[in-house]
Amino acid sequence: MAFITIKRKTIIAVLSVILALIAAVTTAATVIASAKPTNGITIVIDAGHGGADGGVTGITTGTKESDINLSISKYLAKYLQNDGYNVVLTRSDSSAVCSGLKYSKRGDMSARKKTLSEAKPDLVISVHCNSYPVSSVKGAQTFYASAAGERYAKVVQNYFNDVLNDRARQAAVGDYYILNCSEYPSILCECGFLSNAQDESKLITASYQQKIAYTIYSAVSSVLTDDAQS
Ligand SMILES: [Zn+2]
Repeated sequence: MAFITIKRKTIIAVLSVILALIAAVTTAATVIASAKPTNGITIVIDAGHGGADGGVTGITTGTKESDINLSISKYLAKYLQNDGYNVVLTRSDSSAVCSGLKYSKRGDMSARKKTLSEAKPDLVISVHCNSYPVSSVKGAQTFYASAAGERYAKVVQNYFNDVLNDRARQAAVGDYYILNCSEYPSILCECGFLSNAQDESKLITASYQQKIAYTIYSAVSSVLTDDAQS
């Protein structure tokens, strides 16, 4: 009967909304299914900022770091999952990782930490863009907080210097929450300076975002492949 059909549809619709809300409040993390048979290695990609927190902004265009981070993270996720890695994104859209709740720094941090503790990843890659008062400062740089992270950070930095940077930068110790909030090997990639007009003009293009993502992917997969063979 039409009436019952409508009622059932209504109930299903209401239940779907409730379930979606529960999911949104719990976590914004997204698991990306692998295109190839999985190689059993899980990587969390953490797109920095999101929602009310846009991070730093471009000196010329005002582009938010959060949008660039997300775009690079999604390209990186695609390259990794096409190669058989299990990928978990801390966020897969422009909303905050603690979506469903009012934005707070504490809520944001605990949502990211929760994604890490649930995913139990072999590697965490946090994606950010940098800013500095001196506008001539530019280039991509990696950070780490543990010996396990240092190994990856140094290889990614070498790849950055070979592919992206016109002047070599060094991987460095960084006191960032995402690097310190779990025991999993973690790196933070500052993909360039939005305070530098030249870096910014590149960072806002899809082709350069793909280039950065592919560089990070190539570097981390070289380390992971070495480990798998030893
Ligand atoms: Zn940032």
